[in-house]
Amino acid sequence: MCRKMPKYVDQAIKDEILEKLSLEHRNKFLNMCLSAMLKPEEMEFLKEVQDFCVSYENSNNITHGPEEDIYDWYSDFAKAGYITRAHKFNCIDLDYNPWGLTAELMRALALCFFDPQILMMFGASILGINPIEAHHENVPVRLEALKSIVAGEKPSCILITEPERGSDAVHQLSVCEEQDDGSFMLNGEKIFNTNAPKAKWAIAYATAEKNNGRQMAQFLIDTDWEGWNCERVFIPWAPKLYIGHEHLTDLRVPKEYVLGGVGKGRDHMFEGLVVERIMIATQNICECWNALAHATIYANMRKQFGQPILQFQGVGMLLADLFAKTQTLTYGLLKFCQDYDALAEKYGSEHAIPPRINQALVPTASQFKYMAAQSSKEVCYEAANAMGGAGLCDNTLMHDLINISRIQEIVGGSRQIQLYIIMGALGRIFKAL
Ligand SMILES: Cc1cc2nc3c(=O)[nH]c(=O)nc-3n(C[C@H](O)[C@H](O)[C@H](O)COP(=O)(O)OP(=O)(O)OC[C@H]3O[C@@H](n4cnc5c(N)ncnc54)[C@H](O)[C@@H]3O)c2cc1C
Repeated sequence: MCRKMPKYVDQAIKDEILEKLSLEHRNKFLNMCLSAMLKPEEMEFLKEVQDFCVSYENSNNITHGPEEDIYDWYSDFAKAGYITRAHKFNCIDLDYNPWGLTAELMRALALCFFDPQILMMFGASILGINPIEAHHENVPVRLEALKSIVAGEKPSCILITEPERGSDAVHQLSVCEEQDDGSFMLNGEKIFNTNAPKAKWAIAYATAEKNNGRQMAQFLIDTDWEGWNCERVFIPWAPKLYIGHEHLTDLRVPKEYVLGGVGKGRDHMFEGLVVERIMIATQNICECWNALAHATIYANMRKQFGQPILQFQGVGMLLADLFAKTQTLTYGLLKFCQDYDALAEKYGSEHAIPPRINQALVPTASQFKYMAAQSSKEVCYEAANAMGGAGLCDNTLMHDLINISRIQEIVGGSRQIQLYIIMGALGRIFKAL
């Protein structure tokens, strides 16, 4: 099926090329590239999610044009079990199979090819899901919240960043004050929180004493509660995402919604770091593949000077270079995901992986996040460049990919912060010699 054009734009790419750039054809390109690397069961799950996306796109006449609201589609993907496969979710009567980081990579590839912004929206929701999954302690209201995000109607969000505390996330200014009944009163300001204006549930961090990381706590918040005030921050590079700026004013969090009391917030924030950074790296690699699929198909069909532009070294070797980078990085990430899943199996669950092992994986996760975000920035731009004007108009998802690739080095910890973590590892390795 050709991509239908949004109303106010013209079709710049001819029918026969647009037809080949369809989701089905790009999926086929991806599957051929990955076939030597994936185990049969991994390929099977990838194809399962791809089939869902293709049939969803066709049956809902989705064009990915500017008038569509990707949040309208959340519950359909939730009911199909494709918001996250990071856990089995037995605690909320789900029994996802497959699950784990490798399954997350397969899910992300299929979703990114469908719509890169929806993958980022789900990714931010997972940042809200993971802490509840880890700290529900069978408290009914927490389990209900968890189920409504994983398999329900609306995404969740995470509130770490503040207007004055971005990279320095440990020295927060938002405060929490414990009340006699064990509830907490929250006051503070947060910003750049993906999904927040659309979310029902939020995870927020605050501290009993400003600038004191050891006094941090972690809360589950119902955004219908009094004291939650949220405005949208518009990020033009991801125009379909709703990013929030919140003022928390005398917001009372009942005791059963306190996921980590004063003193536990910092550990709770860091415990999920490896998985979260790997998930962003995953998202970035998926962006590379999607851009590469577009550019490769286009360069084989577009003719100039009487021959396909792929035959010109300037185009063909550029795409070969991007292909080599994307393929090798994917191999590395896949190996990491498989090893991590094997650790979860060995210790009985992902939460039981010993902290010393998790700690040792932190710099590796930063390396993947650093390299994958950098690759997304390079591959998406260069692939579009190889397509000429067709890569820049809005007839395909290429402009979404270029745009979203521009923000990846900031989200989830900036490029410099990743390098800072990797640099620290070099010092520790030397000390151990
Ligand atoms: C689209 C988008 C979505 C986001 N989603 C979320 C979300 O869901 N939840 C959430 O809590 N936050 C979210 N963020 C916030 C994001 O995590 C922060 O923007 C990021 O951590 C950087 O913080 P900052 O913007 O305050 O920049 P700053 O921390 O002010 O950094 C500015 C510059 O200084 C550099 N810098 C800072 N400290 C150092 C240092 N020690 N060494 C070297 N360089 C340094 C940084 O690398 C950067 O280049 C999102 C941001 C964006 C843009």
